[in-house]
Amino acid sequence: MQAGFLDHLTATLADIEAQGLLKRERQIATPQSGRIGLRDGRRMVNLCANNYLGLADNAEIRMAAAEAIGEYGFGMASVRFICGTLDLHRELEQAVARYLGKDDAILFAACFDANGGLFETLLTDADAIISDALNHASIIDGVRLSKARRYRYATSDMDDLETQLKQAVADGTRFRLIATDGVFSMDGHVAKLPEICALAERYGALVMVDDCHATGHLGPQGRGTPHLTGAGGKVDIVTGTFGKTLGGAMGGFIAAAQPVIDLLRQRARPYLFSNALAPAVTAGSLKALEIAEAADDLRKKLMRNTQRFRAALTAAGFELLPGDTPIIPVMLGEAQRAQDLAAALDKRGVYVAGFFYPVVPKGRARIRTQMSAALDDEDVDFAVDAFTDAARELGVI
Ligand SMILES: *Cc1c(COP(=O)(O)O)cnc(C)c1O
Repeated sequence: MQAGFLDHLTATLADIEAQGLLKRERQIATPQSGRIGLRDGRRMVNLCANNYLGLADNAEIRMAAAEAIGEYGFGMASVRFICGTLDLHRELEQAVARYLGKDDAILFAACFDANGGLFETLLTDADAIISDALNHASIIDGVRLSKARRYRYATSDMDDLETQLKQAVADGTRFRLIATDGVFSMDGHVAKLPEICALAERYGALVMVDDCHATGHLGPQGRGTPHLTGAGGKVDIVTGTFGKTLGGAMGGFIAAAQPVIDLLRQRARPYLFSNALAPAVTAGSLKALEIAEAADDLRKKLMRNTQRFRAALTAAGFELLPGDTPIIPVMLGEAQRAQDLAAALDKRGVYVAGFFYPVVPKGRARIRTQMSAALDDEDVDFAVDAFTDAARELGVI
């Protein structure tokens, strides 16, 4: 390989490290849960998984996945439309659609792919996408792949959204689609869906919600932010993942009206040109959905943990972003500060991740903590003590 090119990459990496932005991957040697074991034998309280209901290591889901391997084998070795569609895939699609109150749903290898295939398929250069500035990277990339005109509004700023909608109308666009995260993953706040849907109605727009951080644990029966906020069926398109609350393996979906799903099956490139979901993942996700729908006890525990942790950190003097989802960001400013606190917590047996540029804006580094129903009161209290102790040592509080 050309030496000049490798030298260039090495210099880029050195620069990333010098700025305190280097991400290091730690190795876990146990299943994902409220407490996890590391390769070096240490046990840690885990505050950074998207394992909101604690289903990642659920015995019934493991069993369903194992049975599917026995019955259907390991992999499909095909995309869906060639010879990759199992009865299991259709069952999961119909279960997702029923759960979210839509006509039908379509599976993808990940929600990243769902968002990657959605916009390009449904919209052309005659149309407009009006996107929240804080939307997930996969929405941003998906929007980039489409030819639709792009409008951006400041996060959850309804005046700005209205301004952008007016502009899109003035520009003579044919169809308009508002795209938003249901829960903003780095900040933890919920999109103002009733207001968004009202504006959509006024300016003739459709509404798409990426509910990755809500499906399964927020709203009645865990049906997500449309149902949590009362916007319900006014949200036209919901995208989501099986890689978080719903078992945490992998896979994404889009749920919407029949013609939307039918056209995506014909045209969405990540669907047409990528492998079908493995049987174990499909059956496990199906079981996870069934469990999540009935899991009011787990949702209650998740919310109790959330309130307990938030109240204790606030009392200790931490700066938190406001909100009431299980995403609780502890704000620290510069990347190095977030890295230092994460390292100090690691020493104290608490597993967290510092988030900094480019995942969040410069100067807005944070430790994003996430609550889980897999955590017990003792785990939450242990984490609060560790946070307090470590932050005092570093002069953060
Ligand atoms: C996690 C996440 C995704 C990506 O989901 P995958 O299934 O892991 O690809 C997309 N959008 C949002 C808002 C997310 O939080």
